[in-house]
Amino acid sequence: MIPYGRQDINQADIQAVIDVLHSDFLTQGPAVPAFEAAVQLHCNAAYAIAVNSATSALHLACLALGVGQGDIVWTSPVTFVASANCALYCGAKVDFVDIHPLTWNMDVEALAVKLAQAERSGQLPKVLIPVHFGGLPCDMAAIHVLSKQYGFRVIEDASHAIGARYKHQPVGACEYSDITVFSFHPVKIITTAEGGMVTTNNEQLASAMRLLRSHGITRDKEEMQGSSHGPWYYQQIALGFNYRMTDMQAALGLSQMQRLSAFIARRHEIAAKYQEALADLPVQSQLQSADGFSAYHLYVIRLQLDKVKLSHLNVFNAMRDAGILVNLHYIPVYLQPYYKAMGFKPGYCPEAERYYAEAISLPMYAGMTDAQHDTVLAVLNEILTS
Ligand SMILES: *Cc1c(COP(=O)(O)O)cnc(C)c1O
Repeated sequence: MIPYGRQDINQADIQAVIDVLHSDFLTQGPAVPAFEAAVQLHCNAAYAIAVNSATSALHLACLALGVGQGDIVWTSPVTFVASANCALYCGAKVDFVDIHPLTWNMDVEALAVKLAQAERSGQLPKVLIPVHFGGLPCDMAAIHVLSKQYGFRVIEDASHAIGARYKHQPVGACEYSDITVFSFHPVKIITTAEGGMVTTNNEQLASAMRLLRSHGITRDKEEMQGSSHGPWYYQQIALGFNYRMTDMQAALGLSQMQRLSAFIARRHEIAAKYQEALADLPVQSQLQSADGFSAYHLYVIRLQLDKVKLSHLNVFNAMRDAGILVNLHYIPVYLQPYYKAMGFKPGYCPEAERYYAEAISLPMYAGMTDAQHDTVLAVLNEILTS
């Protein structure tokens, strides 16, 4: 069986977790700030705050930006449901901007058209959440210009994109956004089992997210009302959550960070071999951009169905039957029953639906061997040409 993605754990990773287990702190010890510092340094951002998932990170990011009842948040339909759910957690509404037919990221021209319409109808979004699909950075400079023109804030969902670069900066530098969110789920680029991180350059947003990560409780006298009762004293000054990362997770994350560039290099090697081998097959790969260096979380192909004898489902099943655990990222979010119940209908984002009818995620992970890669290509070749 060849999975579509999996973690890469070495002896140093295992030892790092064991060391925490032998130490005084399993959570809220030194490993979390050490991991935060490593990501902050890598990203060239002023602040990094670790949390227990990217879903939690997206929720905190929305709260910090003041998303609430009566607000609207826009994201891409081709993403994991968490990119949209975070707005619903805050009582806001969600809407979707269709994808570009070739990059599969949010289409900036469609965004500009939708913003102009929304301005006329008084329905502008408070926050936009572009998703760096498969690890390929969105057109952030153009999004930034639109955010200034229309007055919305930007959260980058970079769950796929730690290690990616946009123009001259790592993704996470927040040069064109307010907050960036990363995921460390095992299929992503680096892992902490479950885990996430936010980065920002805004001190107020950082403090707000740090406070909400841990119950809205502060031990900082400057933030308290009245005077401290003694060394045990803390105050709850907001309604927060327990979104904290453990030290075991952070130690694993810190150890994984040492190999981030090696992971990305291997993913690029695999992508290059796919690109070359697929050139003569009736499939389309994600169009890369000159401004973006992908983290290659995913390697998705779209079948040119008019040139393939089998149906999309048949190709998918034939790959799975041959032991290649292909996947499909993603079902357009608004086609989920929970979203349909809000009034979204099939046909809402035609490019996203066309994509969904053709896409297959091929195996892509740093630990994939050349032999496994050759097997994937041989099987795919046979299925598509027979
Ligand atoms: C994985 C993923 C998430 C959620 O990440 P978790 O850490 O599992 O909560 C959010 N958005 C996107 C685009 C993802 O791929």
